[in-house]
Amino acid sequence: MIKLRERHARILATIGPATASLEMVEKLIESGVDAFRLNFSHGDHSVHEKSIDMIRQVSKKLNRHIAIIQDLQGPKIRLGVMEKAVKLEVGDIFRLDDDKTEGTKERAYLPHKEILDVLKKDDKIYINDGIVRLKVIKTGKGFVEAEVTSSGTVSSRKGVNLPGVDLPMSALTSKDIKDLEFGLSKNVDWVALSFVQNVGDIIEVKARIQGKAGVIAKIEMPNAVDRIDDIIKETDAIMVARGDLGVECPLEEVPSIQKRLISKCRIAGKPVIVATQMLESMINNASPTRAEVSDVANATFEGADALMLSAESAAGSYPLEAVTTMDAVIRRAERSNAWVPLMDARRPEVKKDSIGDSIANAAYKVAENLKVCALVTLTESGSTALRMSRQRPVQPIIVLTPYAKTARRLALTWGVTCYCDDVPEDVGHLVEHSTRNVMNSGIGRKGQNIVITAGIPFGTPGSTNTLRVATL
Ligand code: PEP
Repeated sequence: MIKLRERHARILATIGPATASLEMVEKLIESGVDAFRLNFSHGDHSVHEKSIDMIRQVSKKLNRHIAIIQDLQGPKIRLGVMEKAVKLEVGDIFRLDDDKTEGTKERAYLPHKEILDVLKKDDKIYINDGIVRLKVIKTGKGFVEAEVTSSGTVSSRKGVNLPGVDLPMSALTSKDIKDLEFGLSKNVDWVALSFVQNVGDIIEVKARIQGKAGVIAKIEMPNAVDRIDDIIKETDAIMVARGDLGVECPLEEVPSIQKRLISKCRIAGKPVIVATQMLESMINNASPTRAEVSDVANATFEGADALMLSAESAAGSYPLEAVTTMDAVIRRAERSNAWVPLMDARRPEVKKDSIGDSIANAAYKVAENLKVCALVTLTESGSTALRMSRQRPVQPIIVLTPYAKTARRLALTWGVTCYCDDVPEDVGHLVEHSTRNVMNSGIGRKGQNIVITAGIPFGTPGSTNTLRVATL
């Protein structure tokens, strides 16, 4: 039987050279990993195929539904090749152009002609994670000239960010399209789309995915932050991708954006992941900084569904310690006196015309009043489980589904633990399935109450209409 995690927030770990072995995957899951991210900015298909197969093999052995997230590289803009690294000083004039020859101290090739065409006077150009900053002073056919406002070194293939510029490019490159076909052929559970700018990017990727995986919109550009309401309506989940977001926006904006995105996703009932540098110092050290511990605790207090490890688990020296630290900090935050009032304070209003939302809200209230040991929800597509999670109850949410795919996709969802079970035949079976699974999960004792929600007739997606209390 699947042992319940003693926490509601979930842990998403990036797999990479430090962890890509059967032994490590097993230890990571046992230490608390609920979902793995495969970063398609690195590694070829054979590397990712090996990781996917290992994760599936270990999940089966441990009898846990673990989600696999394919993180597509997206249209990361990079400089062309430079003769050598050059230091640009404040006041220098530097040119980006469509000349493929090696770059110098005066100029560099920007292999995205369409971007040269849209840049305007005063637009900002950031190179190398925002260390080198320039402002456009002149534009022309096939080039822009910019003045350096922050000095630093520029070398071959360094990343370029153009904060606030609407880029005339899709969030799916030709590499992403090939990677996506591969990911779907390997049954990934989620696809994360990088450098989303608008809702059209989500619609485009959804048309290709055809429901075979959930879509995570990575929010890392100010344009996407400005259009967040439309994006949240269309996407299945959000990632607060603080790495690029912290380059594209002033750093001091990032915590407020994180809070706003979490709050909006909670209202919408869509999972939200907080990502990047959560325990960054643990790439090289066995213990975190105080500030990192606070960051993990704060994301927990904000009610984020999942917290992500990047290089800490992919390439660091202490991947297991990073997971056990994250697990311990989340568990401690959720035991704190501050946690329940924070979950209560942000509870979204019930949509007046929604039967599913009304049932979920009623189940939450019954659970509080009767001090039940668990809420049980039957789901086919996962949407009823999301509605229940949206209520942020203090008790665990046990989700019963006939589909392993639904169970894996829900592994990113706050408070939810999934068990695969047959569709009940009648209400008697519903109560039997629910009590049996709760008892087996080890959280219930005889005589305790549970609250169950389901749709009758059974097996009809979107039909939630029933609330039942049962005694173990
Ligand atoms: C980020 O920028 O925070 C992020 C998660 O994206 P990536 O690691 O793919 O750059």
